[in-house]
Amino acid sequence: MRSFQGEALILDVFDLHEKDRIVTLLTRERGKMKGVARGSRTKYSRFAGQLQPLAKVAVRWFEKDGRDLVRIGEVELVRPAAKLQQDLDGILLGSYLADHLIEFVQEDEPGDLWFRLLDSTVEALLEGVDRDAAARYFEAWVLRLSGIFPSPRECPVCERPFPREGAVLPRGDDHLVCAECAARGAGGGLPIGSDVLDFLLRVGQERLAELAARPPAGATLRRAERLAAEVRRRFLGHELKSYGVIERMRFDLNPS
Ligand SMILES: [Zn+2]
Repeated sequence: MRSFQGEALILDVFDLHEKDRIVTLLTRERGKMKGVARGSRTKYSRFAGQLQPLAKVAVRWFEKDGRDLVRIGEVELVRPAAKLQQDLDGILLGSYLADHLIEFVQEDEPGDLWFRLLDSTVEALLEGVDRDAAARYFEAWVLRLSGIFPSPRECPVCERPFPREGAVLPRGDDHLVCAECAARGAGGGLPIGSDVLDFLLRVGQERLAELAARPPAGATLRRAERLAAEVRRRFLGHELKSYGVIERMRFDLNPS
């Protein structure tokens, strides 16, 4: 059995038996992994209070050849995330962020870029950055790191820059094309205005704090969200669980 240590972000925690918990972690060095925290449900556990979703922790773990689950030795809280989870919106946003990494990061993939994305997003949210802008920035960057970010510059079919009227996400495709090429193809699809293309360009050029200091209009963020959700769903083949909950809640609050 070999021992390792490093920083990690906690993505998910669930109960196993009466005494233990399974924790999904994102580490810089080893990427995403699952570990068992033995005895963490017992009253005097050394893990008490430290296994909080989205918290940053210093962790020591043990690996055994041929085992998928690592054993978690010690956990020390580096940055709690409880402040983000004091209201329902914050709790849902937190699971939305974590869900992306649970679904998009492969277990044998290097974790550094993913770690930086989630770490900086949680940090900015704890500092009070606008939640809507942060969520849109984050989901667009998940598409970038996964190699499925729709290019906002030019049509990949005719190679011309997108015109002022914007672009189209054709039905069943995960990249944007110009309206002319969309019409020559199967036709139809989701029109994407130049405000959303501008937002996507800014995502690639600016840090979250810069973007949030000069935020796009709320309607632009809604359209950017719709585009990201479509591309994400087509790639994964299903909806993120937490996004389904967010959508249902929005509908209940504001049915239209
Ligand atoms: Zn074209």
